[in-house]
Amino acid sequence: MPEESLLERRARLLGPAYRLFYEAPLHPVRGEGVWLDDADGKRYLDAYNNVASVGHCHPHVVEAIARQAGVLNTHTRYLHEGVLDYAERLLATMPRELGHAMFTCTGSEANDLAMRIAKAHTKAEGLIVTRFAYHGVTESIAQASPSLGRFVQLGRAVRTVPAPDSYRVPAGEQGAAFAAGVRAAIADLQAHGIRPAALMVDTVFSSDGIFTDPAGFLTEAVAAIREAGGIFIADEVQPGLGRTGDAFWGFMRHEGLVPDIVTMGKPLGNGHPLAGLAVRPEVLAAFGRECRYFNTFGGNPVSMAAGMAVLDVIGREGLMANAQRVGRHLRAGLSKLAERHELIGDVRGAGLFVGLELVTDRRARTPATAETVRVVNGLRERQVLLSATGEHANTLKIRPPLVFSEANADLLIGTLDEVLAGL
Ligand code: PMP
Repeated sequence: MPEESLLERRARLLGPAYRLFYEAPLHPVRGEGVWLDDADGKRYLDAYNNVASVGHCHPHVVEAIARQAGVLNTHTRYLHEGVLDYAERLLATMPRELGHAMFTCTGSEANDLAMRIAKAHTKAEGLIVTRFAYHGVTESIAQASPSLGRFVQLGRAVRTVPAPDSYRVPAGEQGAAFAAGVRAAIADLQAHGIRPAALMVDTVFSSDGIFTDPAGFLTEAVAAIREAGGIFIADEVQPGLGRTGDAFWGFMRHEGLVPDIVTMGKPLGNGHPLAGLAVRPEVLAAFGRECRYFNTFGGNPVSMAAGMAVLDVIGREGLMANAQRVGRHLRAGLSKLAERHELIGDVRGAGLFVGLELVTDRRARTPATAETVRVVNGLRERQVLLSATGEHANTLKIRPPLVFSEANADLLIGTLDEVLAGL
């Protein structure tokens, strides 16, 4: 079996730290739009990859990368229009207070840089994140990623707060409850002699379980961190770039909310490693005085061409509107399924970022963790790809390329119906 030999080679060559998806690991060899083809020629509906956000191997992006790679690829210590044109275009998608852009290759580096900027600006070090957050792999950011669980200890200056859980916190109280958590974390930092530098949140709480509503639930917590001298960092690595349908960035769903730093990654280059941040000039000033920043690959001409091409496609193909329309259709279909399947406790999300929480008891909202594993693997067997999220890994995470159609959504819903019926 070729799959066995790949497994054996992975273990031998890559060592023990990597993990595969699914009980029967997938071996895709080709991608196109919302589809992945495996080595046996089977076609899978990809309802999970937000990295290939404008569709796997989009020809406009592939062509832009190839064209620039054939002309010049250098770095930001030479003059080049590419990085300026892309910075201009990216910043134009945000409130004008966010006046500078900086580029990295990964979301982890963007968050790490954001924290260096926050510390230089505030002369403080405390960081508040949500209870099951994931923000990346560098040492300092892994220590602020409690979803890594037993693998990594939280940093001394890191505190966690419950996410604004729209399923368990009573309607209308999410914002106040979230802010109360942030105030308690600030007080605890201060009690330990640590001043808060930042509140960093994924604006749709992707790893806490996907909480998008009600819009506005971030405002009070952001006011609290600013009152305590800290800044607000919006981690848009997962929610950003049109995915929520109603706004280009997740934070923009919350009226009047302007972060101090916005970090970005995954979908920016449609698979090409492109990430970065946008920042208020006054927040960047101290870091700029105290440090110089050079990231060998961050902001290179090929990455910038990839980023530009992705923005072209989102605009030309109306993908934000598509995310909104198809997302609504998908949630409506999933809500209908909930009428027939007791296991579905909650359907939530915005645009094409959808969470489906599975519970064994609707009244007690008991996480159906074991059942969720079976559903994810059952879907994979029937050639539909997605995964699970949240502290109890019982929320199906549906986050397809933005070119997902209503017919794709119907295929997903129909297949899920079969899998749930067969449990
Ligand atoms: N922030 C969030 C919210 C993420 O989901 C991730 C990646 N899963 C990161 C940061 C880190 O990005 P990367 O893997 O590109 O370093």
